[in-house]
Amino acid sequence: MAKLSAPKGTKDILPGESYQWQYVESVLKQIAKDFNFKELRTPTFEATEVFARGVGDTTDVVTKEMYTFLDKGGRSITLRPEGTAGIARSFVEHGLYAGVLPLKLWYLISCFRYEKPQAGRLREFHQFGIEMLGTTTPLADAEAILFGNEIFKRFQIGNITLNLNNIGCKECRKAYNEKLKAFLEEKKDSLCETCQERLGKNPMRIFDCKSEICQSLIADAPTIFDSVCEDCKNHFEEVTNILDTVGVSYKIDKGIVRGLDYYSKTVFEFVSQNIGAQGTVLGGGRYDGLIADLGGNDAPGIGFAMGLERLLLLLGDSIPVADTTPRILLIPIGDDAKKVAWKLVSDLRSRGISAEYDINCRSVKAQMKYADKIGANYTVVLGDEEVSKNQYQLKNMQTGESVTVALEQIADILSETTEG
Ligand code: ATP
Ligand code: MG
Repeated sequence: MAKLSAPKGTKDILPGESYQWQYVESVLKQIAKDFNFKELRTPTFEATEVFARGVGDTTDVVTKEMYTFLDKGGRSITLRPEGTAGIARSFVEHGLYAGVLPLKLWYLISCFRYEKPQAGRLREFHQFGIEMLGTTTPLADAEAILFGNEIFKRFQIGNITLNLNNIGCKECRKAYNEKLKAFLEEKKDSLCETCQERLGKNPMRIFDCKSEICQSLIADAPTIFDSVCEDCKNHFEEVTNILDTVGVSYKIDKGIVRGLDYYSKTVFEFVSQNIGAQGTVLGGGRYDGLIADLGGNDAPGIGFAMGLERLLLLLGDSIPVADTTPRILLIPIGDDAKKVAWKLVSDLRSRGISAEYDINCRSVKAQMKYADKIGANYTVVLGDEEVSKNQYQLKNMQTGESVTVALEQIADILSETTEG
């Protein structure tokens, strides 16, 4: 029979590494709490239309990367390639604009994109992200950026650049797209096939092309940053004022347009030089038209998404190893002692003390080895004599020292001592 393996571009997170994910997730949840954001969970799959309308049907994600299939009822379903469209759909469906605004949300999800797998690029990957809905202020943009900044600060990650761009509103983009089209018209034939198509539909997206030829052709093109309307310009200036005041440094990168169609005004990326080609760890921006595009009341929003695989690559060995060792291993000898051990292990666990016995019931010698392998802090051998006298040798595995104790004392001793 052929050997089974995980699908291309997916990864098992094995028991020896899952603590790294738990650590990262717990820090992120704490930051979300500190910033007063609440979690919103949406389904792993949505009607395809949610992404076609929400992400934009000229984007790479929608045109090339989605896992789309017909379910048994003939509906077109898509595994979510990102988190924002589903959250926007939920916001509209549940009329959340009628509640307290801005609504500050976070999510931690797996996403699916049919891409060429490589370091930092998978087909199933994980994102932590935030969304703020129902706010137009520059302070909201700054808050999203400050949240991103805090993540790298909290994990003590240096060497991260924050790049900002202002991609204007629908109005300034309309005028700009004409300008860009005119500039690229005579170079049209040298553009890649996809970009030739983009030129007609959404020329700004050419900035997002990964082809070097396309990149060189647009190097001298007029930028949206220099073509925005007065309103968008002032908005962006205020965002940078706030960042300056708080002391967050940034660079203006007029080439960032972001991969998804829904962005407007402020867009930003946190980029690392330390993890190779896939250096964009976190990306986000304002999306004032998205909710309306999904059929809701006009509710402006801003958010970001961060790839957890890329964050983990950045963190490398700096993640503190979790203490997953049990406090005690009980080693019973004989049938009566086994019963005492079953009861004791159950009592200890109920008191929140991690206790273990050898489920495979090996020899005493093998159980001693087992204690070493699982890193038990203490062991206690329960033989007939110990049980009848209620005197046990509680052995500290690190020091090798033993103390004589009664059964009832074990829980108290284990909860008092913290060593090991
Ligand atoms: P890239 O330019 O690297 O393809 P993107 O613009 O498609 O990124 P976004 O849609 O903005 O990425 O997603 C936000 C973040 O999610 C990225 O910055 C990255 O950290 C992560 N991410 C995106 N696609 C993948 C993937 N296939 N595998 C792992 N992480 C990913
Ligand atoms: Mg991509």
